[in-house]
Amino acid sequence: MTEQQARPIDPLTPVLSADWGEKRSWTLPVYETGGGYRAARRALAEMTPEQVVGEVKDSGLRGRGGAGFPTGMKWGFIPQDNPNPKYLVVNADESEPGTCKDTPLMMASPHLLVEGVILASYAIRAHHAFIYVRGEILQVVRRLQQAVREAYDAGHLGRDIHGSGYDLDVVVHAGAGAYICGEETALLDSLEGRRGQPRLRPPFPAVAGLYASPTVINNVESIASVPGIIRNGAEWFASMGTEKSKGHVLYSLSGHVTNPGQFEAPLGITLRELIDMAGGIREGHELKFWTPGGSSTPILTAEHLDVPLDYEAVGAAGSMLGTRALQVFDETTSVVRAVLRWTEFYKHESCGKCTPCREGTWWLVQTLKRLEAGQGEEGDIEKLVDLCDNILGRSFCALGDGATSPITSAVEHFREEFEAGMHTPAWELFPYRASTVF
Ligand code: NAD
Ligand code: SF4
Repeated sequence: MTEQQARPIDPLTPVLSADWGEKRSWTLPVYETGGGYRAARRALAEMTPEQVVGEVKDSGLRGRGGAGFPTGMKWGFIPQDNPNPKYLVVNADESEPGTCKDTPLMMASPHLLVEGVILASYAIRAHHAFIYVRGEILQVVRRLQQAVREAYDAGHLGRDIHGSGYDLDVVVHAGAGAYICGEETALLDSLEGRRGQPRLRPPFPAVAGLYASPTVINNVESIASVPGIIRNGAEWFASMGTEKSKGHVLYSLSGHVTNPGQFEAPLGITLRELIDMAGGIREGHELKFWTPGGSSTPILTAEHLDVPLDYEAVGAAGSMLGTRALQVFDETTSVVRAVLRWTEFYKHESCGKCTPCREGTWWLVQTLKRLEAGQGEEGDIEKLVDLCDNILGRSFCALGDGATSPITSAVEHFREEFEAGMHTPAWELFPYRASTVF
């Protein structure tokens, strides 16, 4: 660990998940008892929108939806001389395989998100905000709707909020369950009532987004981090994490660990430390491979246990931090089978707009199915890599690129398992019952 990677808070000190153990943590009285809505009241009374943007810029907060784009900078892109209304859209369409941090956050602390929405909307001078949430998780939709209702009744939303002269309306919008609607421009099309398919960027939504107006789209966790920054100051937030990846985040550990779940810790913690917090790899087994940020990030192996989980270090290790969805697999898992399952997901969720992704994911699945069944044909591994080469960088949006990451990284780290697919079925080498995951 370098000097800049100081960790002044204990990895277990919760900020985003501070209320998760409280009884009825999702209700307004519990949130207000813990200091909730004080940051919004103070900002509306004492700060200008520019000061809120400045505080978020100084904190170093980077987008928590996967890409890690600086949040304050994104807010600063909103052209205030554009006469159109400005919009805030919260991307609550969490769907990346293994990613399960926004859902518990919204279930346990919906008011933290609503308070963040007030602060972000005020900062960009928006008077309408939308929370676009997955419609399949009805309990989250209902919980958010209840929190928004409570916030209106208490005067935190609506006209002339707490006598500040600032108006804000918030709408909770339930999507219809397409992974592609988590891509920000497909989300906008869906929100406008069209079939969700990505738009060409640029123009970025900050310039022409919802109804062709300037729009900030931020992930749930990004917005939920803002009240803490305004309450405790940019310096407090920036004192956690690493030099370029600051603050605290939620890590989702799933798979072959003793106690899977969400763990809040500063950026820069390692998988080794997180696995310790999760009670270790299941007894009698050892780590084989893992994803740092969901299945669209290249897989890593036990060699990378001590890589600091920040954007730079994970990038240097050959992967991406993404959504910090740490899927952990032990030696009982067939890497070919795992990669096939993920690729089937991307094939199913491909929106069909561009040929490399629509056709390429279909061919990837066919080839992987042969290798899983031990019926691989001469040249299949080369075909897989060639297909990935023709999808990566040639697809219209990140879904196509993401679909290739697990395959190329798995071939790089576990080529012998793909070679075994020429003659032996994966279920003989790795019986399903032993794995429990794949
Ligand atoms: P991106 O890097 O293209 O953009 C990130 C954000 O910055 C966007 O909001 C974009 O509008 C903005 N931006 C970038 N350049 C800009 C500019 N010049 N001007 C104005 N705004 C600009 O990433 P992306 O394609 O939006 O997202 C990809 C990421 O999404 C992946 O890293 C993946 O981890 C993640 N992902 C998350 C989920 C999930 O469930 N949370 C699902 C799939 C993928
Ligand atoms: Fe649609 Fe896939 Fe093309 Fe993205 S890459 S636009 S999901 S077909």
